Amino acid sequence: EALIRFENVRKTYTTHHGGSVAALEDVNLAIKQGSILGVIGRSGAGKSTLIRLVNGLEKPDSGQIIVDSIDISRLAEKDLRKVRRSIGMIFQHFNLLSSRTVFGNIALPLEIGGLRKSEIQDRVEHLLTLVGLTDKRNHYPAELSGGQKQRVGIARALATRPKVLLCDEATSALDPETTASILQLLASINRDLGVTILLITHEMAVIRAIAHEIAVLDAGRIVEQGDAYDLFTRP
Ligand code: ADP
Ligand code: ADP
Repeated sequence: EALIRFENVRKTYTTHHGGSVAALEDVNLAIKQGSILGVIGRSGAGKSTLIRLVNGLEKPDSGQIIVDSIDISRLAEKDLRKVRRSIGMIFQHFNLLSSRTVFGNIALPLEIGGLRKSEIQDRVEHLLTLVGLTDKRNHYPAELSGGQKQRVGIARALATRPKVLLCDEATSALDPETTASILQLLASINRDLGVTILLITHEMAVIRAIAHEIAVLDAGRIVEQGDAYDLFTRP
C-alpha cells in the first residue's frame, strides 16, 4: 500500500526571461507505507521540486500526487494545511530558530497546533529522549554541534506525529561520522515508530546506508527505480 504516489507528474518553471524549464517529466513513483525511499540525483535533477510537490508548496502542471489517499495536486491552501500535518520535514541547514532553546524549537509546532501545555511538556520530553538530547533542553542552537542541531530538527519534525518524514539533503552539512549516527536515528524512527521516510540526496553512501527502495532522478526523469538490495547486488 502506497502512502505517497506520483502519477505522470510534470512540473515546469517559468524563468524570468519568459522561457520554461522542465524540472520533472513523466514521474511515476510510489512510496510504500512504512518504507524508506531514497531518491538520488545530481544538482538540478529535480529532487527539491519532488519534495516541494509532496508538501504542496508547488503544484504540478499535470499528473496526480496522492498523499495518504488524497490527491493534493488540486487542493486549496486551507485543505493543504490539514495534509501537511501528516508530513514532517528536515533540512540540510536545520532551519532552527536561534532565539529559542532546544525545548522551545521542538515545542513550536505543538504550540502552533494549540496543544495543552501539559501535553506539550509530555511530548517534548519523549522526543528529547528519542533523539538523545535530554541534557541539552535549555541550550540554544548556537551552542550545539551540527549533529545535535539535526537531532533537534528531527524531534521538531516528529512532534506532530506525522506519517511521513521528508529529508531534504539532511546529512549533507555533516561529517561522515555524524552522518552515520543521524542515519541510524532515522532508521530506528522508521523501524520503531513506523514513520515512512522519503530521503533525497546527491550522495550514494546515504542511500546505501538506509534506503529500502531507490529512485534515480536525472534531468527530471526517473531513470532507475527498484529495491535497494537488488540494485546494489546486481552484477
Ligand atoms: P535539485 O534539488 O535536484 O538540485 P531542483 O528541483 O531544485 O533540483 O531543480 C530542478 C530544475 O528546475 C533545475 O533546472 C532548476 O534550475 C529548475 N528550477 C528549480 N526551481 C526553480 C524556480 N523557482 N524557477 C525556475 N527554475 C527552477
Ligand atoms: P501517548 O499519547 O499516551 O503519549 P502514544 O502511544 O501515542 O502514547 O505514544 C507513546 C509515545 O511515543 C508518545 O508519548 C510519543 O512521544 C511517542 N511517539 C508516538 N508516535 C510518535 C511519532 N510519530 N513521532 C515521535 N514520537 C512518537
